[in-house]
Amino acid sequence: MENGHHFLVNQSILYRNTQKYFDKILSKFDIGAGQLIYIIAINENEGVTMQEVSRLLEMDKGTTTKSIQRLIEQGYVEMRIDEKDRRIKHLHMTEKSGQMINEIYGYRNDYRMTLAKDMDFETFAEALEQVTDNSRRLLVDEDRYQGIRIGRLDKLSFADYPGKAAAVVYMGGCNFKCPYCRYRDLVFMPENYATVSPKEVLGFLEKRKGLLDAVCISGGEPLLQEGLAEFMDEIKDLGYEIKLDTNGYDPEKLQTLLETGLVDCAALDVKNTALRYAETIGMQANAFRYDNIVRSIAILQQSGITYELKTTVVREYHTLEQLKELAECLKDKGHWVLQQFIPGDSNILPGLTAYTPEEMKEMYAVVRQIKPDTELRGIDE
Ligand code: SF4
Repeated sequence: MENGHHFLVNQSILYRNTQKYFDKILSKFDIGAGQLIYIIAINENEGVTMQEVSRLLEMDKGTTTKSIQRLIEQGYVEMRIDEKDRRIKHLHMTEKSGQMINEIYGYRNDYRMTLAKDMDFETFAEALEQVTDNSRRLLVDEDRYQGIRIGRLDKLSFADYPGKAAAVVYMGGCNFKCPYCRYRDLVFMPENYATVSPKEVLGFLEKRKGLLDAVCISGGEPLLQEGLAEFMDEIKDLGYEIKLDTNGYDPEKLQTLLETGLVDCAALDVKNTALRYAETIGMQANAFRYDNIVRSIAILQQSGITYELKTTVVREYHTLEQLKELAECLKDKGHWVLQQFIPGDSNILPGLTAYTPEEMKEMYAVVRQIKPDTELRGIDE
Protein backbone atom coordinates (compact mmCIF):
# COMPACT_ATOMS: atom_id res chain seq x y z
CA MET A 1 0.00 0.00 0.00
CA GLU A 2 3.09 2.28 0.15
CA ASN A 3 2.70 3.39 -3.46
CA GLY A 4 -0.99 4.21 -3.06
CA HIS A 5 -4.10 2.15 -2.53
CA HIS A 6 -4.61 -1.09 -4.36
CA PHE A 7 -7.38 -1.46 -6.91
CA LEU A 8 -10.10 -2.76 -4.59
CA VAL A 9 -9.69 0.13 -2.15
CA ASN A 10 -9.60 2.72 -4.95
CA GLN A 11 -12.69 1.21 -6.44
CA SER A 12 -14.48 1.38 -3.10
CA ILE A 13 -13.46 5.03 -2.53
CA LEU A 14 -14.55 6.00 -6.04
CA TYR A 15 -17.93 4.30 -5.53
CA ARG A 16 -18.57 5.95 -2.16
CA ASN A 17 -17.45 9.41 -3.29
CA THR A 18 -19.70 9.12 -6.33
CA GLN A 19 -22.65 8.12 -4.15
CA LYS A 20 -22.03 10.98 -1.70
CA TYR A 21 -21.65 13.54 -4.48
CA PHE A 22 -24.89 12.61 -6.20
CA ASP A 23 -26.80 12.07 -2.94
CA LYS A 24 -25.90 15.61 -1.97
CA ILE A 25 -26.47 17.31 -5.28
CA LEU A 26 -29.74 15.52 -6.04
CA SER A 27 -31.20 15.96 -2.57
CA LYS A 28 -33.08 19.05 -3.75
CA PHE A 29 -35.11 16.74 -6.01
CA ASP A 30 -35.55 14.30 -3.13
CA ILE A 31 -33.80 11.53 -5.05
CA GLY A 32 -30.51 9.80 -4.37
CA ALA A 33 -27.54 8.50 -6.35
CA GLY A 34 -29.21 5.10 -6.57
CA GLN A 35 -32.09 6.47 -8.63
CA LEU A 36 -29.92 8.48 -11.00
CA ILE A 37 -29.14 5.66 -13.42
CA TYR A 38 -32.81 4.64 -13.56
CA ILE A 39 -34.05 8.09 -14.46
CA ILE A 40 -31.40 8.44 -17.18
CA ALA A 41 -32.20 4.96 -18.54
CA ILE A 42 -35.92 5.76 -18.76
CA ASN A 43 -35.30 9.19 -20.29
CA GLU A 44 -33.10 7.68 -23.00
CA ASN A 45 -35.41 4.71 -23.62
CA GLU A 46 -38.94 6.13 -23.34
CA GLY A 47 -41.50 3.34 -23.04
CA VAL A 48 -39.13 0.66 -21.73
CA THR A 49 -40.42 -2.01 -19.37
CA MET A 50 -39.05 -2.74 -15.88
CA GLN A 51 -37.51 -5.92 -17.18
CA GLU A 52 -35.72 -4.07 -19.96
CA VAL A 53 -34.38 -1.50 -17.49
CA SER A 54 -33.08 -4.34 -15.28
CA ARG A 55 -31.32 -5.79 -18.25
CA LEU A 56 -29.89 -2.50 -19.49
CA LEU A 57 -28.43 -1.66 -16.11
CA GLU A 58 -27.60 -5.25 -15.14
CA MET A 59 -29.52 -4.74 -11.90
CA ASP A 60 -31.54 -7.42 -10.14
CA LYS A 61 -35.28 -7.19 -10.66
CA GLY A 62 -36.10 -6.52 -6.99
CA THR A 63 -33.82 -3.48 -6.76
CA THR A 64 -35.12 -2.16 -10.07
CA THR A 65 -38.74 -2.52 -9.01
CA LYS A 66 -38.11 -0.75 -5.69
CA SER A 67 -36.20 2.17 -7.24
CA ILE A 68 -38.67 2.71 -10.07
CA GLN A 69 -41.64 2.37 -7.71
CA ARG A 70 -40.19 5.24 -5.66
CA LEU A 71 -39.74 7.36 -8.81
CA ILE A 72 -43.37 6.66 -9.69
CA GLU A 73 -44.56 7.66 -6.22
CA GLN A 74 -42.54 10.87 -6.46
CA GLY A 75 -44.14 11.72 -9.79
CA TYR A 76 -40.92 11.42 -11.84
CA VAL A 77 -41.97 8.33 -13.78
CA GLU A 78 -45.31 7.19 -15.08
CA MET A 79 -46.34 3.59 -15.87
CA ARG A 80 -48.68 2.98 -18.82
CA ILE A 81 -50.33 -0.31 -19.75
CA ASP A 82 -49.68 -1.56 -23.29
CA GLU A 83 -52.76 -1.13 -25.47
CA LYS A 84 -52.43 -4.54 -27.12
CA ASP A 85 -51.09 -6.67 -24.27
CA ARG A 86 -52.26 -5.67 -20.80
CA ARG A 87 -49.48 -7.69 -19.17
CA ILE A 88 -46.86 -5.25 -20.48
CA LYS A 89 -46.29 -1.95 -18.67
CA HIS A 90 -44.26 0.84 -20.20
CA LEU A 91 -42.30 3.48 -18.29
CA HIS A 92 -42.36 7.13 -19.28
CA MET A 93 -40.92 10.40 -18.02
CA THR A 94 -43.37 12.94 -16.62
CA GLU A 95 -43.55 16.70 -16.88
CA LYS A 96 -41.90 16.93 -13.46
CA SER A 97 -38.89 14.80 -14.45
CA GLY A 98 -38.68 16.52 -17.84
CA GLN A 99 -38.01 19.77 -16.02
CA MET A 100 -35.08 18.45 -14.02
CA ILE A 101 -33.39 16.11 -16.52
CA ASN A 102 -31.15 18.76 -18.13
CA GLU A 103 -29.87 19.77 -14.72
CA ILE A 104 -29.13 16.12 -13.96
CA TYR A 105 -27.12 15.76 -17.16
CA GLY A 106 -25.22 18.91 -16.17
CA TYR A 107 -24.27 17.36 -12.81
CA ARG A 108 -23.23 14.16 -14.49
CA ASN A 109 -20.93 16.09 -16.83
CA ASP A 110 -19.43 18.07 -13.94
CA TYR A 111 -18.75 14.79 -12.20
CA ARG A 112 -16.96 13.40 -15.22
CA MET A 113 -14.91 16.57 -15.71
CA THR A 114 -13.78 16.50 -12.09
CA LEU A 115 -12.70 12.88 -12.39
CA ALA A 116 -10.94 13.55 -15.69
CA LYS A 117 -8.69 16.28 -14.31
CA ASP A 118 -5.04 15.87 -15.39
CA MET A 119 -5.56 12.57 -17.14
CA ASP A 120 -6.53 10.91 -20.43
CA PHE A 121 -10.07 10.06 -19.41
CA GLU A 122 -11.07 8.53 -22.74
CA THR A 123 -8.40 5.86 -22.44
CA PHE A 124 -9.37 5.28 -18.81
CA ALA A 125 -13.07 4.95 -19.73
CA GLU A 126 -12.22 2.41 -22.43
CA ALA A 127 -10.04 0.42 -20.03
CA LEU A 128 -12.81 0.54 -17.40
CA GLU A 129 -15.28 -0.79 -19.95
CA GLN A 130 -12.94 -3.72 -20.59
CA VAL A 131 -12.41 -4.33 -16.88
CA THR A 132 -16.19 -4.27 -16.33
CA ASP A 133 -16.64 -6.74 -19.14
CA ASN A 134 -13.99 -9.02 -17.65
CA SER A 135 -15.67 -8.80 -14.26
CA ARG A 136 -18.75 -10.60 -15.64
CA ARG A 137 -16.63 -13.74 -15.78
CA LEU A 138 -16.48 -13.72 -11.99
CA LEU A 139 -20.19 -14.45 -11.87
CA VAL A 140 -20.36 -17.30 -14.35
CA ASP A 141 -21.39 -20.34 -12.39
CA GLU A 142 -20.01 -23.33 -14.26
CA ASP A 143 -22.29 -25.77 -12.45
CA ARG A 144 -25.48 -23.77 -12.73
CA TYR A 145 -26.74 -25.51 -15.84
CA GLN A 146 -25.57 -29.00 -15.04
CA GLY A 147 -29.09 -30.33 -15.55
CA ILE A 148 -29.43 -28.86 -19.05
CA ARG A 149 -28.50 -31.12 -21.94
CA ILE A 150 -28.39 -29.44 -25.30
CA GLY A 151 -28.08 -31.74 -28.26
CA ARG A 152 -27.86 -29.19 -31.00
CA LEU A 153 -27.93 -25.48 -31.77
CA ASP A 154 -29.25 -24.13 -35.07
CA LYS A 155 -27.89 -20.63 -35.33
CA LEU A 156 -30.47 -19.14 -37.67
CA SER A 157 -33.96 -20.18 -38.65
CA PHE A 158 -36.83 -18.29 -40.20
CA ALA A 159 -39.16 -21.27 -40.03
CA ASP A 160 -39.37 -22.00 -36.32
CA TYR A 161 -40.67 -18.77 -34.80
CA PRO A 162 -43.45 -17.06 -36.76
CA GLY A 163 -42.13 -13.86 -38.34
CA LYS A 164 -38.83 -13.85 -36.43
CA ALA A 165 -35.18 -14.62 -37.03
CA ALA A 166 -34.51 -17.22 -34.39
CA ALA A 167 -31.87 -19.56 -33.05
CA VAL A 168 -33.15 -23.04 -32.21
CA VAL A 169 -31.87 -24.85 -29.13
CA TYR A 170 -32.59 -28.59 -29.25
CA MET A 171 -32.73 -30.12 -25.80
CA GLY A 172 -31.55 -33.71 -25.52
CA GLY A 173 -33.77 -36.53 -24.29
CA CYS A 174 -37.48 -37.21 -24.65
CA ASN A 175 -40.17 -39.14 -22.80
CA PHE A 176 -41.75 -40.22 -26.10
CA LYS A 177 -40.26 -42.43 -28.81
CA CYS A 178 -42.31 -41.41 -31.83
CA PRO A 179 -41.31 -43.88 -34.56
CA TYR A 180 -41.30 -41.08 -37.16
CA CYS A 181 -39.14 -38.76 -34.98
CA ARG A 182 -36.47 -37.06 -37.06
CA TYR A 183 -33.92 -36.91 -34.25
CA ARG A 184 -33.16 -40.42 -33.02
CA ASP A 185 -29.82 -39.39 -31.50
CA LEU A 186 -31.35 -36.37 -29.81
CA VAL A 187 -33.92 -38.61 -28.16
CA PHE A 188 -31.59 -41.45 -27.13
CA MET A 189 -28.44 -39.36 -26.57
CA PRO A 190 -25.87 -42.12 -27.32
CA GLU A 191 -22.75 -42.16 -25.16
CA ASN A 192 -20.59 -40.51 -27.79
CA TYR A 193 -23.18 -37.83 -28.58
CA ALA A 194 -21.52 -34.41 -28.69
CA THR A 195 -23.60 -32.00 -26.65
CA VAL A 196 -23.38 -28.22 -26.78
CA SER A 197 -22.68 -26.52 -23.46
CA PRO A 198 -25.31 -24.05 -22.17
CA LYS A 199 -22.50 -21.53 -21.67
CA GLU A 200 -21.59 -21.80 -25.34
CA VAL A 201 -25.22 -21.19 -26.32
CA LEU A 202 -25.50 -18.15 -24.04
CA GLY A 203 -22.18 -16.81 -25.37
CA PHE A 204 -23.45 -17.19 -28.92
CA LEU A 205 -26.72 -15.42 -28.06
CA GLU A 206 -24.82 -12.61 -26.34
CA LYS A 207 -22.85 -12.03 -29.55
CA ARG A 208 -25.98 -12.11 -31.73
CA LYS A 209 -27.90 -9.55 -29.68
CA GLY A 210 -29.67 -7.20 -32.08
CA LEU A 211 -29.22 -9.60 -35.03
CA LEU A 212 -31.57 -12.34 -33.86
CA ASP A 213 -35.04 -11.69 -32.44
CA ALA A 214 -35.93 -14.91 -30.73
CA VAL A 215 -34.89 -18.31 -29.45
CA CYS A 216 -36.89 -21.52 -29.88
CA ILE A 217 -36.45 -24.03 -27.12
CA SER A 218 -37.14 -27.31 -28.82
CA GLY A 219 -36.08 -30.90 -28.53
CA GLY A 220 -36.34 -33.67 -27.53
CA GLU A 221 -38.66 -32.56 -24.76
CA PRO A 222 -37.53 -29.31 -23.11
CA LEU A 223 -39.75 -29.71 -20.03
CA LEU A 224 -37.61 -32.68 -18.93
CA GLN A 225 -34.62 -30.41 -18.35
CA GLU A 226 -33.69 -29.46 -14.78
CA GLY A 227 -33.06 -25.72 -14.53
CA LEU A 228 -34.90 -24.88 -17.76
CA ALA A 229 -36.54 -21.76 -16.30
CA GLU A 230 -33.19 -20.40 -15.06
CA PHE A 231 -31.63 -21.04 -18.46
CA MET A 232 -34.55 -19.33 -20.20
CA ASP A 233 -34.32 -16.43 -17.77
CA GLU A 234 -30.71 -15.84 -18.92
CA ILE A 235 -31.89 -15.89 -22.53
CA LYS A 236 -34.68 -13.45 -21.71
CA ASP A 237 -32.21 -11.15 -19.96
CA LEU A 238 -30.30 -10.95 -23.24
CA GLY A 239 -33.44 -9.49 -24.80
CA TYR A 240 -34.78 -12.45 -26.77
CA GLU A 241 -38.35 -13.60 -27.17
CA ILE A 242 -38.76 -17.29 -26.41
CA LYS A 243 -40.83 -19.98 -28.06
CA LEU A 244 -41.33 -23.34 -26.38
CA ASP A 245 -41.89 -26.54 -28.36
CA THR A 246 -43.34 -29.30 -26.21
CA ASN A 247 -45.01 -32.69 -26.55
CA GLY A 248 -47.41 -31.61 -23.78
CA TYR A 249 -46.99 -34.66 -21.58
CA ASP A 250 -46.26 -32.71 -18.39
CA PRO A 251 -49.08 -30.18 -17.84
CA GLU A 252 -47.85 -29.24 -14.33
CA LYS A 253 -44.40 -28.27 -15.56
CA LEU A 254 -45.92 -26.45 -18.50
CA GLN A 255 -48.20 -24.46 -16.18
CA THR A 256 -45.32 -23.59 -13.83
CA LEU A 257 -43.13 -22.46 -16.70
CA LEU A 258 -45.86 -20.34 -18.27
CA GLU A 259 -46.45 -18.64 -14.92
CA THR A 260 -42.86 -17.35 -14.96
CA GLY A 261 -43.77 -15.20 -17.98
CA LEU A 262 -40.67 -16.45 -19.81
CA VAL A 263 -42.56 -18.06 -22.69
CA ASP A 264 -43.85 -15.70 -25.39
CA CYS A 265 -45.12 -18.31 -27.79
CA ALA A 266 -45.53 -22.09 -27.82
CA ALA A 267 -46.15 -25.07 -30.06
CA LEU A 268 -47.64 -28.30 -28.78
CA ASP A 269 -47.55 -31.57 -30.70
CA VAL A 270 -50.87 -33.35 -30.96
CA LYS A 271 -49.71 -36.68 -32.25
CA ASN A 272 -52.95 -38.44 -33.06
CA THR A 273 -56.47 -39.32 -31.93
CA ALA A 274 -56.81 -40.74 -28.41
CA LEU A 275 -57.14 -44.28 -29.70
CA ARG A 276 -53.90 -44.28 -31.68
CA TYR A 277 -51.91 -41.83 -29.54
CA ALA A 278 -49.79 -44.34 -27.62
CA GLU A 279 -48.90 -46.24 -30.78
CA THR A 280 -47.93 -42.98 -32.52
CA ILE A 281 -45.50 -42.04 -29.76
CA GLY A 282 -44.00 -45.52 -29.40
CA MET A 283 -45.48 -46.23 -25.96
CA GLN A 284 -47.60 -48.97 -24.46
CA ALA A 285 -51.26 -47.89 -24.23
CA ASN A 286 -51.44 -48.80 -20.53
CA ALA A 287 -48.42 -46.59 -19.75
CA PHE A 288 -49.81 -43.53 -21.49
CA ARG A 289 -52.16 -40.86 -20.10
CA TYR A 290 -54.08 -39.06 -22.81
CA ASP A 291 -55.58 -36.62 -20.32
CA ASN A 292 -52.10 -35.05 -19.86
CA ILE A 293 -52.28 -33.84 -23.44
CA VAL A 294 -55.83 -32.57 -22.98
CA ARG A 295 -54.80 -30.65 -19.85
CA SER A 296 -51.77 -29.12 -21.56
CA ILE A 297 -53.94 -27.85 -24.40
CA ALA A 298 -56.35 -26.31 -21.87
CA ILE A 299 -53.41 -24.63 -20.08
CA LEU A 300 -52.23 -23.06 -23.33
CA GLN A 301 -55.76 -21.90 -24.11
CA GLN A 302 -55.97 -20.11 -20.77
CA SER A 303 -52.42 -18.74 -20.87
CA GLY A 304 -53.08 -15.81 -23.19
CA ILE A 305 -49.85 -16.45 -25.15
CA THR A 306 -49.75 -17.21 -28.87
CA TYR A 307 -49.59 -20.95 -29.51
CA GLU A 308 -50.19 -23.54 -32.17
CA LEU A 309 -51.03 -27.23 -32.17
CA LYS A 310 -49.03 -29.39 -34.58
CA THR A 311 -49.56 -32.81 -36.10
CA THR A 312 -46.96 -34.55 -38.25
CA VAL A 313 -48.87 -36.66 -40.73
CA VAL A 314 -47.41 -40.13 -41.38
CA ARG A 315 -49.03 -42.59 -43.75
CA GLU A 316 -48.68 -45.52 -41.34
CA TYR A 317 -50.32 -43.66 -38.42
CA HIS A 318 -52.81 -41.20 -39.86
CA THR A 319 -55.78 -41.88 -42.10
CA LEU A 320 -58.14 -39.24 -43.41
CA GLU A 321 -60.73 -40.51 -40.93
CA GLN A 322 -58.35 -39.93 -38.05
CA LEU A 323 -57.47 -36.43 -39.24
CA LYS A 324 -61.19 -35.64 -39.48
CA GLU A 325 -61.68 -36.91 -35.94
CA LEU A 326 -58.74 -34.82 -34.75
CA ALA A 327 -60.15 -31.75 -36.52
CA GLU A 328 -63.43 -32.25 -34.63
CA CYS A 329 -61.61 -32.73 -31.37
CA LEU A 330 -59.43 -29.61 -31.82
CA LYS A 331 -62.19 -27.48 -33.29
CA ASP A 332 -62.18 -24.75 -30.66
CA LYS A 333 -58.73 -25.45 -29.26
CA GLY A 334 -56.53 -23.13 -31.34
CA HIS A 335 -54.60 -22.86 -34.60
CA TRP A 336 -53.73 -26.31 -35.93
CA VAL A 337 -50.81 -27.07 -38.22
CA LEU A 338 -50.59 -30.21 -40.33
CA GLN A 339 -47.05 -30.93 -41.41
CA GLN A 340 -45.73 -33.54 -43.71
CA PHE A 341 -43.54 -36.28 -42.35
CA ILE A 342 -39.97 -36.31 -43.69
CA PRO A 343 -38.55 -39.86 -44.01
CA GLY A 344 -34.81 -40.07 -43.36
CA ASP A 345 -31.89 -42.04 -41.95
CA SER A 346 -32.31 -40.54 -38.50
CA ASN A 347 -35.96 -41.56 -37.96
CA ILE A 348 -36.44 -43.77 -34.91
CA LEU A 349 -38.21 -46.42 -37.00
CA PRO A 350 -36.83 -46.73 -40.53
CA GLY A 351 -39.11 -47.37 -43.49
CA LEU A 352 -42.09 -45.16 -42.63
CA THR A 353 -43.62 -43.26 -45.51
CA ALA A 354 -45.07 -39.82 -46.20
CA TYR A 355 -48.20 -38.95 -48.12
CA THR A 356 -47.59 -37.28 -51.46
CA PRO A 357 -48.07 -33.47 -51.58
CA GLU A 358 -51.30 -34.04 -53.55
CA GLU A 359 -52.66 -36.44 -50.95
CA MET A 360 -51.74 -33.99 -48.18
CA LYS A 361 -53.54 -31.18 -49.99
CA GLU A 362 -56.62 -33.34 -50.50
CA MET A 363 -56.78 -34.28 -46.82
CA TYR A 364 -56.13 -30.68 -45.83
CA ALA A 365 -59.07 -29.52 -47.97
CA VAL A 366 -61.33 -31.98 -46.14
CA VAL A 367 -60.23 -31.17 -42.60
CA ARG A 368 -60.45 -27.44 -43.27
CA GLN A 369 -64.14 -27.91 -43.81
CA ILE A 370 -64.33 -29.09 -40.20
CA LYS A 371 -61.69 -26.80 -38.70
CA PRO A 372 -61.07 -23.68 -40.82
CA ASP A 373 -58.09 -22.46 -38.77
CA THR A 374 -55.97 -25.35 -39.99
CA GLU A 375 -52.70 -24.73 -41.82
CA LEU A 376 -50.75 -27.03 -44.11
CA ARG A 377 -46.98 -26.78 -43.70
CA GLY A 378 -43.84 -28.41 -45.06
CA ILE A 379 -45.25 -29.71 -48.31
CA ASP A 380 -42.48 -30.98 -50.55
CA GLU A 381 -43.65 -29.87 -54.01
S1 SF4 B 1 -41.01 -36.34 -32.28
FE1 SF4 B 1 -41.61 -37.52 -30.47
S2 SF4 B 1 -39.76 -38.60 -29.84
FE2 SF4 B 1 -39.13 -36.99 -31.24
S3 SF4 B 1 -38.63 -35.29 -29.90
FE3 SF4 B 1 -40.76 -35.01 -30.50
S4 SF4 B 1 -41.94 -36.00 -28.91
FE4 SF4 B 1 -39.84 -36.72 -28.68
